[in-house]
Formats: sequence, C-alpha cells, structure tokens
Amino acid sequence: MASSKRASDEAAEPLPERERDCLIVGGGPAGLTAAVYLARFRRDALVIDAGEPRAALIPTSRNCPGFPDGIRGPDLLRAMRAHADRFGVAVLDGTVTRLAIDETSRETRFLAAWRPQDGGAERRAAARTVLLATGVVDIEPRLVRLERAIREGYVRHCPICDGYEVIGRRIGVIGFGSGGVEEALFVRTYSADVTLLTLGEPMGLDDDSRRRLEAAGVGIVEEPIVEIEIDEGKISCLQTEQPQPDLGRGGAGCDRGDRDSPVATAQRLLNGLFGDEDGSIGGGGSGIRTHGTV
Ligand SMILES: Cc1cc2nc3c(=O)[nH]c(=O)nc-3n(C[C@H](O)[C@H](O)[C@H](O)COP(=O)(O)OP(=O)(O)OC[C@H]3O[C@@H](n4cnc5c(N)ncnc54)[C@H](O)[C@@H]3O)c2cc1C
Repeated sequence: MASSKRASDEAAEPLPERERDCLIVGGGPAGLTAAVYLARFRRDALVIDAGEPRAALIPTSRNCPGFPDGIRGPDLLRAMRAHADRFGVAVLDGTVTRLAIDETSRETRFLAAWRPQDGGAERRAAARTVLLATGVVDIEPRLVRLERAIREGYVRHCPICDGYEVIGRRIGVIGFGSGGVEEALFVRTYSADVTLLTLGEPMGLDDDSRRRLEAAGVGIVEEPIVEIEIDEGKISCLQTEQPQPDLGRGGAGCDRGDRDSPVATAQRLLNGLFGDEDGSIGGGGSGIRTHGTV
C-alpha cells in the first residue's frame, strides 16, 4: 500500500464515510473474529475484504472448535460473515489500496482508499484505528492442477491442521533443507510411511539429516516430482522427470504407457506411495504436505 498522492489529488477524492472506531482490512477468519468482538465491545467497525481468503480453500476443517464433524472453509466464512452481520458490522467487498495517517487531524486518524469489487468508483474510509487482517500468501508448489489437488484435499498445507487427518496413510512431504527434514520427522509421528520429496530444489541433506531420516524410516526421493495424477479418489501416480531406482515401496503402477520406458518406470516406482494400503483413500485424501508456506 502506498500513500504518495499529492494533496490536490486527495482533495479531489470523495470524502470518507463517517469515522469508524476501527477499519479492519481483510474479512477472513481473523478479520471477522475481530469484527464480532469489536461490535460486542460496542465499537463501530468496518470490514473491507478483497475476497481471497486462504480459508476458502479449506476442503473440510476438523480442528475448528464447535464443529466436531468438520466444516468446509466457504461455509465457515459464510457463517462468520453472518455472525458479524448479526452484530451490525458492515463487511464490504473491495480492496484497500492506500492507507495513511491523516496529518491534518489532531487525534490519530487513518485514511484509507479502497476499490469496490463491483468495479465502482474508488471510495474512502476513515478510522481511529486500523487492524490489518490480510492473511498470508502461500508459496505454492509448482505443480500442474494444483488448485484442484488442494481443494480436494490431496495436497495439504499444514501438518498441524492435517496430520491427524492422514494418520496411517502414505504421506509425501515436499520440502528441502533442515525445514523439510524436521517436517518429515514431525509427520512421521502420524504415519509409518513417509517420504521426503522435492519439486526441484536440491534437498541439501547433510549426513546427520540422512541418518535421522533413515533411523525414522523416512524415504527420500531426490528426483524432482513434476506431476501428480489423481484418479479414483486417490493420488494414483507421482511422475518424476527421470526414472528412479526401486524404492522397495512400489504400488501397482500407472495404468498407462509402456512400463519399460523411463517415464513409465518412474511412475511405477512412485505409484502407490500416496494411497491407502488398499488403494482407496476416501474423502480425506492421502495428503502430500507442502513445505514453504509463509
Ligand atoms: C488448503 C488449506 C487448508 C487449511 N486447513 C485448515 C484447517 O483445517 N484448520 C485451520 O485451522 N486452518 C487451516 N488453514 C489455514 C487457514 O485457512 C488460515 O489460518 C486462515 O485462513 C487465516 O485467516 P486470516 O483471516 O488471517 O487470513 P485469510 O483467510 O487469508 O483472509 C485474509 C483476507 O484478507 C483479504 N485481503 C488481503 N489484502 C487485502 C486488502 N489490501 N484489502 C482488503 N482485503 C484484503 C484477503 O483477500 C482475504 O480475504 C488452511 C489453509 C489452506 C490454504
């Protein structure tokens, strides 16, 4: 966000609506929770939300208190918006593009410019305080059809949220360096069948890391994974660029291609890592963890 407009430009802009006690930038779970609390403290809050919450990607959250059977991210967001609405908080769809302290005011006062999502003219808001609840942006793994894999729960972002969901399943942890090692070892507490994978970053494992992974029974595939194939409710195949030596964990093989060709060999060797033992995963998916979330 920048605040480099000249005073003449500012003067030409529409005046802000009434000054609020708090402007909440971002209407994901954090912003909406704050909205409910502030309203109940009888504060006048306004939420402006750009509409791209990470929470919308949650296939089903099962660690959200009050929802023992789980709740889908979009449903949780809808319920939280309704909750904020119940206490009279306006949640407006738009993007805050500029935020600045009003130098002309004796009291601390923030001025924001925001662009409504419906494409209308830029609007302004004024508030005594601002809460930035803009979330974070994932550094996504470079994989074909990633979004579908995330939405359907085959690729997961968070061992804290999802470790429990994949207990006893075959799990791949995409990671490298000491972070990848620690995450693979953490995930190992949920499953005896964990493999550390890379999408191209050198794994950079020192001897000690290799020893620890080996002692924990964590497999390592250093050849980059280039594609995930999803079929019949499971990750049916992980494709590498080059063939892999037999890892001793092979599944039934991909049902296409010449099994003796290098790619087919790689497919055969990696296939089966990420299904249930019986090859049927069910709704929860088997879960490749992604490393590198900020
Ligand atoms: C695939 C996936 C599965 C997950 N599963 C779980 C789970 O099971 N359990 C769990 O507890 N957590 C889970 N998480 C994490 C959870 O989604 C986040 O912890 C949560 O969404 C954080 O809430 P937030 O409000 O901080 O951010 P977000 O949900 O990201 O919301 C931030 C909002 O701010 C808006 N914004 C950003 N910039 C601006 C701007 N300039 N102006 C206006 N608005 C702006 C964004 O568009 C967005 O709508 C999961 C995340 C992912 C991606």
